Amino acid sequence: MIESPLLEKMTGYIGGRWTDNAQGHTFDVYNPATGKVIAQAASMTEDEVKAAVAAGKSALRLTSPYSIETRRKWLEDIRDALKANKEEVGRILCMEHGKPLHEAQGEVDYAAGFFDYCSKHIQALDAHTIPEKPKDCTWTVHYRPIGVAGLITPWNFPIGMIAKKLSAALAAGCPSVIKPASETPLTMIALFSLMDKHTDLPDGMVNLVMGKASVIGKVLCESPDVPMLSFTGSTEVGRKLILDTAEQVKKLALELGGNAPFIVFDDADLDAAADNLIANKFRGGGQTCVCANRIFVHEKVADAFGEKLAERVNKMTVGDGINGDVDLGPLINQAGYDKVKRHVEDALEKGASLVAGKKPEELGDDLFFPPTVVTGVNRDMCCYREETFGPLVPMALFRTEEEVIDAGNDTEFGLASYVFTGDAERAQRVAAGLRFGHCGWNTGTGPTPEAPFGGMKASGIGREGGLEGLFEFVEAQTVPRGF
Ligand code: NAP
Repeated sequence: MIESPLLEKMTGYIGGRWTDNAQGHTFDVYNPATGKVIAQAASMTEDEVKAAVAAGKSALRLTSPYSIETRRKWLEDIRDALKANKEEVGRILCMEHGKPLHEAQGEVDYAAGFFDYCSKHIQALDAHTIPEKPKDCTWTVHYRPIGVAGLITPWNFPIGMIAKKLSAALAAGCPSVIKPASETPLTMIALFSLMDKHTDLPDGMVNLVMGKASVIGKVLCESPDVPMLSFTGSTEVGRKLILDTAEQVKKLALELGGNAPFIVFDDADLDAAADNLIANKFRGGGQTCVCANRIFVHEKVADAFGEKLAERVNKMTVGDGINGDVDLGPLINQAGYDKVKRHVEDALEKGASLVAGKKPEELGDDLFFPPTVVTGVNRDMCCYREETFGPLVPMALFRTEEEVIDAGNDTEFGLASYVFTGDAERAQRVAAGLRFGHCGWNTGTGPTPEAPFGGMKASGIGREGGLEGLFEFVEAQTVPRGF
């Protein structure tokens, strides 16, 4: 079992108190690298989730709002606590997620960056008076907290994803009820432990509920005291939340699935493109929403690029991230592993060739999937149409700019995309043509706290990060003054 000073409790946190399930119900948390149970966390009942919503409601202040200075201090305290405990939070994250330790600890820095950004820009949420005086009135615009927000996060970035939401919610003065993914609740408990010890957040301002998604989701969708849900996860669950909240017309911020095209033109720096693809594709074991999922390479450079890729992939090390400097950890669970295996099998059956990695029949029986490259991919293959969420690089060829823009857009998703070319005008045209919220030009980098990030099409609604993200949890109210 995992031992940590940040994991003294394994329970929810409601109204400023660690709160167990009344009947003692728990669920198991596994280390995917060893397959062993490392903790048992409390599974909350419907009544306990309702109590969390009520606690949030009691912390909401409308007529005497929390001042900008108070909110900034909360954000700074959380940032500082995360930075000071980066190693331990990263260790917990590594053990429940499986990503290499250096990546896990890097994710803690990334998370601290969102609290830092919001603390530095929170003044933008102050009221302002517009310079014009239409209708003989003085018009003031206020940014009111929307109310208690339900924050639901996935397992692939256990601290990064909550940081994006919670920093903006606290900046707005919104209490929250937070549900982590059942695979990775421990990092969230560690965050609550830090907030409990190192901040003076009012009781009820942050509440933690863990356990069955159906139970927690139902309360958050049905409660009239929760006017907003911010969700990161699959498009499938995002669609369900849209339907389940339609009756009450709740505000939804949705960060959903991706199917990122990574386009390499024949005038690209192929070494730089290969290095960026490796860094982008294999982060988190290939289990990130911004991972390149379809690699389009111009036919003139396809062989050369494939060789560069295979050379790099063959040097990668796979293993338990906690023990040393490995490049790739295990996949999160058996279902995730089986999906990647199915994508490789399907591609090979339909005519793709294996350039690096193992044939499906050579794979072991643990959750470590070797980095794999296949070429000759087309739109009939599962790896082209679905988000693989694993360490598979599927390469397809293209001839013209027009053709590759169409191919890139040939998906319901619109989250991240990448283009590698030495031609600036072409890069501008391709970025404008790709219906994706993020388009890296000669870089495979993903989101950052300073810039807005989010999806087009079925990849979501709203933005996290940047000033756009800072405004997600407020509602503008105009107060025209007549005399
Ligand atoms: P998921 O299955 O949709 O789960 C995400 C979260 O939603 C988990 O906490 C899950 O709880 C919860 N959930 C499931 N059903 C629910 C329901 N009916 N009501 C309320 N909550 C519910 O996604 P995942 O497998 O954890 O994450 C992978 C997906 O997230 C990928 O598609 C990836 O692209 C996407 N993602 C997107 C972004 C982005 O920024 N756009 C970032 C990261 C990940 P349980 O764990 O208890 O089931």
